[in-house]
Amino acid sequence: PDVNPLRSLILAAARNGSIRRVVATAPVSRDVVRRFVAGETTSDAVAVTRRLVEDGLTVTLDYLGEDTTDSAQAEHTVQSYLELLDRLHAEGLADRAEVSVKLSAVGQMLDEDLALENARRICRAAEAAGTTVTLDMEDHTTTDSTLRILGELRKTWPWVGAVIQSYLHRTLDDAERLAAEGSRVRLCKGAYKEPESVAYPEMTEVDKSYVRCANALLAGDGYPMFATHDPRLVRIIAERAEAHGRKPGSFEHQMLYGIRPEEQLRLAQQGHTVRVYVPYGEEWYGYLMRRMAERPANTTFFLRALLTR
Ligand code: FAD
Repeated sequence: PDVNPLRSLILAAARNGSIRRVVATAPVSRDVVRRFVAGETTSDAVAVTRRLVEDGLTVTLDYLGEDTTDSAQAEHTVQSYLELLDRLHAEGLADRAEVSVKLSAVGQMLDEDLALENARRICRAAEAAGTTVTLDMEDHTTTDSTLRILGELRKTWPWVGAVIQSYLHRTLDDAERLAAEGSRVRLCKGAYKEPESVAYPEMTEVDKSYVRCANALLAGDGYPMFATHDPRLVRIIAERAEAHGRKPGSFEHQMLYGIRPEEQLRLAQQGHTVRVYVPYGEEWYGYLMRRMAERPANTTFFLRALLTR
């Protein structure tokens, strides 16, 4: 059962077509949307990237859209990434900005080989642009498929990044296996609704698992990327990194665009690499609603802005 009624309400609103139309067309909600999403076009994404880079941050860009069962839509997503990578290169941003890709947006639900081939095209373009790709991790039914595709891609491009989720029971094993030289691994808590058969139901267990996995990554020879806004975990990562003799630059912090921006700058000013995950594209609605559901304070802010226009 969902114990958070506000979360259930927001997720119900996310599925409601008329609420979606109000949110999409209300003039002020544009500003609120813009706090979490760079905009709809490649130019919007590039403009936000430039601003963040000027502030001393690095970026990973996500062209929004997931769960495609339509190969034309998958092709549209690939083309959007190719255009973006070209622009990042042309504008001299490719050494500070990479891309994050959801395999379900490039055909994983249709056919694993199609997703692999599409991911290869994005990796080739990233290589030409002089940057890297990270494969986002989705719900647990896709984990093995995503790690298989990762393994194939890394034969050609060892810099392709993996994501592991500390809420899954399996993840410490994955962390130990992936913590090898040359590998880039993002550790997050996990964002999908998962059954207790595969995931820890309690947040305290998810946090403890996060620390165990962080230790495994820091002890290994890879490049860990710690994706969390959790102040306690950020403190623990600093301690553990020091204990493992890790210098700033041998691991990085990652946070979402619009969430704890002051903390992002503070860590960067301390000399850490901080990467901001920047979503953009026409399909911003589902993403925004998931961020609202995670944190009631964001929702209050959002609803107030909608009502006081
Ligand atoms: P939470 O438990 O949500 O929050 C912990 C604490 O952080 C809060 O108590 C609060 O103190 C602080 N906090 C959180 N939000 C705010 C806020 N808005 N303002 C102020 N303080 C706040 N998930 C996946 O499943 N797959 C992925 O590929 C993936 N990629 C990600 C990439 C990045 C860069 C990031 C940051 C997250 C990614 N996630 C991904 C999402 C992740 O799994 C979590 O759902 C999400 O980050 C929330 O978890 P948290 O670690 O920030 O901690």
